[in-house]
Amino acid sequence: MSRKSKEEKDKKAEKRGKERRYSRLRGMRDILFDEYKYWELVTRKARDLAVLYGFQPIETPALEKADLYERSSGKNTDVVSKEMYTFTDKSGDRVALRPEATPGLVRAYIEHGMFNLPQPVKFFWLGSLFRHEKPQSGRYRQHTQFDLEMFGEASPVADAQMILIAYNFFKELQIKVQIQINSLGCKECRADYINKLIEFYKERGKRAKLCIDCKKRFATNPLRLLDCKEEECAKVREEAPQIVDFLCNDCRDHLIKVLEYLDELDIPYNLNPFLVRGLDYYNRTVFEVTAVEGDEEESEDGAPEKKKETEEKDKRQASLGGGGRYDRLVEAMGGRPTPACGFGIGIERVILKIKEKNIPLKKDQEDFIFLAQLGEQAKRKMFILFEEMRKAGYRVRQAFTKDSLKVQLEEANRLGAKYSLILGQKELIDGTIIIRDMESGTQEMIDYKKIGAELNRRLESKDE
Ligand SMILES: [Zn+2]
Ligand SMILES: [Zn+2]
Repeated sequence: MSRKSKEEKDKKAEKRGKERRYSRLRGMRDILFDEYKYWELVTRKARDLAVLYGFQPIETPALEKADLYERSSGKNTDVVSKEMYTFTDKSGDRVALRPEATPGLVRAYIEHGMFNLPQPVKFFWLGSLFRHEKPQSGRYRQHTQFDLEMFGEASPVADAQMILIAYNFFKELQIKVQIQINSLGCKECRADYINKLIEFYKERGKRAKLCIDCKKRFATNPLRLLDCKEEECAKVREEAPQIVDFLCNDCRDHLIKVLEYLDELDIPYNLNPFLVRGLDYYNRTVFEVTAVEGDEEESEDGAPEKKKETEEKDKRQASLGGGGRYDRLVEAMGGRPTPACGFGIGIERVILKIKEKNIPLKKDQEDFIFLAQLGEQAKRKMFILFEEMRKAGYRVRQAFTKDSLKVQLEEANRLGAKYSLILGQKELIDGTIIIRDMESGTQEMIDYKKIGAELNRRLESKDE
């Protein structure tokens, strides 16, 4: 056998071996240990805010009838027509993996007769969404979303509160954001606007300049012409009529009130005439949250006007989340007429942003204490102490499977322990224990019986 053919043979064998190994599906991901601290931080922030504003946790199935999404989001939307995972299950039902949260939540609201509850009914939802998108940075085919929905409240206060919560979420995670906001009007005034828009695109060969997708959208969903990312399409739309000029009195009033609340709350926003969101069910307020790039730290207390200007150029950047009002959806899905609004935030993209900007993870978790030991007897004693401390409400960690003190303290450092309690042979005999400040490295020997008092003193003085 020639050398070359042997090499080839080896390569083939290697390839076969690799093929037998499993790997993730394209666009899917695992969340490993190091990543998890970000997940904890972000999902805890979401949950805390939701509870604070009176939203109640709810879960819905990942599988629903495909028809649910087709009817609510719209058959011609990208989400439904291009990205939804749809299949026929073993009982012959056409089902879909949830591509977005709202339709399932609307179904649940109707199915469980929640219009009988005192309104508004407020949902907090956190779960996976599935979209067969082109994989790209921060976008996965299974991704996680934090979602808030409010049913039964028509007032612009509700829209403003939703935006406020979304804004606070990012602010408290130290991510600078701006709100892109627009109104899509109601059924009536939007119809007028869409007619004007179609007329505009019919003028002087504008349609010929559009991308293939937009040519299709022109017939199926002309509003989407406004948010196409293609350069040529963006150029054409610059001159397009803007919906705010076509709003009926009620819709205009609603928008103005929302904006007034935002002004009052000092939330930086940009009235963005090209923001339409990709779904059919929105009316009136739609909004998106976009990250503010660059370091304009000094503008913290500066004029919002200036902010708006500098960020104008960034308004096309990927959004971190968004939502809006959908007053007709509940009725369209078979429920009673129920005004509603909501928003969703993509957890993966938020985490990506935190990493990108190198935002230090705030150690705002409670401090925890690591128990380390040297020798078999000490280990047994620490084992019991661990349980006692845990029951007493301390946050404790250990590495009892490790014997080396050095390895244990390395683990304590890796976990970010505030203090370590160290028990060795000598301390065991003397009835003492060593308390080590993990940050400064200073150690002190204390009476074993006074562990509780000592820890409380140290942890409390830190809080002040
Ligand atoms: Zn209107
Ligand atoms: Zn286009």
